[in-house]
Amino acid sequence: MTARADPRFAIIGAGMAGILSAIKLKEAGLTDFTVYEKADRLGGTWRENTYPGITCDVPSHLYCYSFALNPGWSHMYPPGGEIQAYFENAAERFGVTPHLRFGDEVVSCEFANGRWRLATAGGHRDEVDFVIAATGVLHHPKYPEIKGLESFGGALFHSSRWDHNVTLDGARVGIIGTGSTAVQIVSAIVERVTKLVLFQRTAQWILPAVNPAFSTGEQSAFGKDPGLMEDMRSSVSQLFDSFSNAIVDLDSPTMKMIEEVCRSNLDDNVTDVVLRERLRPDYRAGCKRLIVSPDFYQAIQKPTAELATERIEQIEAEGVRTADGRLHELDVLVLATGFKVNAFVRPMSVIGRDGKNLAHDWTDRPEAYLSVSVPGYPNFFMLNGPNGPVGNFSLVEVAELQLGYIMSLVDRVRSGDCREISATRVAMEDFEEARVEAAKRTVWATGCRSWYLDDRGIPAVWPWPFERFRAEMASPKWEAFELRG
Ligand code: NAP
Repeated sequence: MTARADPRFAIIGAGMAGILSAIKLKEAGLTDFTVYEKADRLGGTWRENTYPGITCDVPSHLYCYSFALNPGWSHMYPPGGEIQAYFENAAERFGVTPHLRFGDEVVSCEFANGRWRLATAGGHRDEVDFVIAATGVLHHPKYPEIKGLESFGGALFHSSRWDHNVTLDGARVGIIGTGSTAVQIVSAIVERVTKLVLFQRTAQWILPAVNPAFSTGEQSAFGKDPGLMEDMRSSVSQLFDSFSNAIVDLDSPTMKMIEEVCRSNLDDNVTDVVLRERLRPDYRAGCKRLIVSPDFYQAIQKPTAELATERIEQIEAEGVRTADGRLHELDVLVLATGFKVNAFVRPMSVIGRDGKNLAHDWTDRPEAYLSVSVPGYPNFFMLNGPNGPVGNFSLVEVAELQLGYIMSLVDRVRSGDCREISATRVAMEDFEEARVEAAKRTVWATGCRSWYLDDRGIPAVWPWPFERFRAEMASPKWEAFELRG
């Protein structure tokens, strides 16, 4: 058979993972590709989330491409705008900007005669040999179903759709939700507003972490000696590895230590006993995604802040009415209510071999072999797809590992071994069975509501140590793949 030396690729999404794919394809000499992006700018999460206080809780020297370390990070935990600029610079620096096609959404991918036919909302058509879907995880905002939401008379928006035209200074602001997003917003705006009401449905454990700035001296030393950045990256990476090992081992000493640190953070920093108990979660630390904040407890104790723990009864023109009958009058209401996390490539229509329909295959819940490949959808691969490592890791590292794996699959086709490659059904089912069993034994399954849980209440995430993920991604097990043609 003829080897496909110069196949055509479509990369869907120009966020961190899409830009990574473009850079790596180009580096491999594969230049026939387009990155489709429905928005008018690259950046994904970092383009969309611009709320006050946005900071990544993965240290900057780990939350970047391994091949493009950045001596200029301003802080240990980088602000969102800096990360956005980093990815924009990376796209320019590695020369992939000309491949980006903005402002048109891929609405369908159909496998026909050994190739993928793509159609966009704007009517553009393309035909490619491989699809790399880099469509993100925390992408579709979840709006709460609360009576009267649409009747609010002030400014109302989701945290990932921040309206920067709205004045916060001197305003009365309500925030619904207590996830990583809400916690950062509270700290950032509490001193700017006249009143801040945080509507808490569930209390959160908070891991304290200071966020030191890098001095110009340190930045210049990083620039002169990249080895220093490598050292910092590897020490942070080891820390994250030990966290990931602990979180899948409920009774590990590290897990106990993490719980203790969270408990002390609450006990030592919240002076009012009543408030302290209202802020105390009734589940194990780490069950929900652990929140990292240097100053949330200080912020919520400021005179302008109020914690509302009564259930929200309804939203009215003037504000939020809680179940105790109280109306919290507000000018601005922020919905920090998270994301619909099980969409992945959807709502794009994906039709695989023999008319298989991904939306149909995923009716119950999304599944993929190692979160990368789905049986019956040859030469279609996902980055940060279903059931992968998402909890307090660097998704940049996850995407790099997955892309290396995908490139090995692509190479089998390019070398002429086959024309089509996808995981076998048996491999995916065996993987899923083992994953589900392991997931039931993690801290995420110890009795809390969180976005990690699927419709059955089973954590839809990688349930093993991160080292195991690295080992899996190092090289495909070929018996898990069907090679055709
Ligand atoms: P989230 O963790 O899903 O939190 C959503 C919050 O909204 C929860 O407190 C939830 O309450 C509440 N909520 C949802 N519907 C509600 C309703 N109808 N009534 C009252 N409360 C409601 O969302 P997120 O904070 O945007 O964070 C999502 C993920 O994004 C994080 O876990 C993290 O992975 C990532 N992230 C990371 C950073 C960072 O790096 N620092 C920052 C922001 C986000 P319950 O807890 O009761 O469900």
